[in-house]
Amino acid sequence: MALKQLDTVAQKINLDPNIHTVLKKPERELTVSVPVLMDDGHTEVFTGHRVQYSSVRGPCKGGIRYHPDVTLDEVKALAAWMTWKCAVVNIPYGGAKGGVRCDPFKMSTEEIRRMTRRYTVMIMPIIGGRRDIPAPDVNTGADTMGWIMDTVSMFEGRTVLDIVTGKPIELGGSLGRREATGRGVMISSLQLLKKLGKDPKDTTIAVQGFGNVGSVGADLLSKEGCKIIAVSDVSGAFYNPKGLDILDMLKYVKTSKNHLLEGYKKDGTEQISNEELLFSDVDVLIPAALENQITDKNADKIKAKFIVEGANGPTTPEAEKILEDKGTIVIPDVLANSGGVIVSYFEWVQDIQAFFWDLDQINASLEKIMINSFDGVWSLSQKEKVDMRMAAYMIAVTKVANALRQRGIFP
Ligand code: NAD
Repeated sequence: MALKQLDTVAQKINLDPNIHTVLKKPERELTVSVPVLMDDGHTEVFTGHRVQYSSVRGPCKGGIRYHPDVTLDEVKALAAWMTWKCAVVNIPYGGAKGGVRCDPFKMSTEEIRRMTRRYTVMIMPIIGGRRDIPAPDVNTGADTMGWIMDTVSMFEGRTVLDIVTGKPIELGGSLGRREATGRGVMISSLQLLKKLGKDPKDTTIAVQGFGNVGSVGADLLSKEGCKIIAVSDVSGAFYNPKGLDILDMLKYVKTSKNHLLEGYKKDGTEQISNEELLFSDVDVLIPAALENQITDKNADKIKAKFIVEGANGPTTPEAEKILEDKGTIVIPDVLANSGGVIVSYFEWVQDIQAFFWDLDQINASLEKIMINSFDGVWSLSQKEKVDMRMAAYMIAVTKVANALRQRGIFP
């Protein structure tokens, strides 16, 4: 999917075939075995990856995912998307991604901590504050990043803050980082509504995924007056045509088993299937779970007029074609969910300077970058009569290609 997208944009911008050839391959991919002593005394060996797609515009940057479906191909695609994402919002990073194939829901916190520390040591030869800076992704969070920071620090014999972003605030993390991706999804959604002259108060939204991105996005958009009528997580979906009580749902998942919505009850709120959520009659659909959710098998049933991609790669190219024919506007992942990497960049800058900003400065700087990037992509899409994804890719790939051309092919 990532390669298909690159080929399409290469054709559109007349990309030099020599540059195209280079951009089709990750710079470096590492597969590691991660032996972990499990609580019951047996040893399990997990497989982990770290892929550095491009360092042409700066150090590689990208999250680490813990999931049973992690494969090298998936990590490669996610690393490519990170490259385009950093370029489209013009922050001085290349792209990377990491993952461990495991089911964290079946592991204890101690097992996950040991796995994280061993995985960190195994990828230590290629990561670094000026080389490749990991961050959270699916099923990893501030705790995981704290363990990575501590592991690297123990080896270096000093506290190394800039090795990873998304850390706990007390360990050199940035205010606003946890909420940044969801906040970016909110900013992109509001910017889209503004361009279309639509009032947030007359806007209905369905959100797939109630994790870091989905729950914060839903919360902030409901605070802007939008009506969130459906949300889901891996355990099921919930629907209320009058608007869900997102604060109540957030409160519920704070203490529920595995922080899932399973068992949530509230008057006026009914349970629907995960499929039904995707097909709800709403203005905006925000997929914020995993990739490949909107496919050629279900795209024709999607009623939402606008899709804001909180997740990475939720729409397949085949589905996108069907949506385009229906006139659905898709705000692509590389733009819509870039809030996380933007505030990660702020965190890294603060760590390097050892000087921390207040939340107002962080949120204002995030908003400025996101609105500028959104407007740039929107204008190009209008001028070239292409969809938002194509416009975003045209901007991103041109930036990476120009940097590569100026650096030249080594040696
Ligand atoms: P998370 O683990 O916090 O949340 C994922 C959510 O999706 C959970 O609520 C889970 O139950 C739900 N889910 C999983 N499978 C589902 C299914 N089949 N149907 C409905 N819900 C399902 O992860 P996250 O950090 O919120 O990431 C979500 C997506 O956003 C991923 O694609 C990730 O790559 C992307 N993303 C995350 C960040 C970030 O800062 N966390 C930044 C950019 C992009």
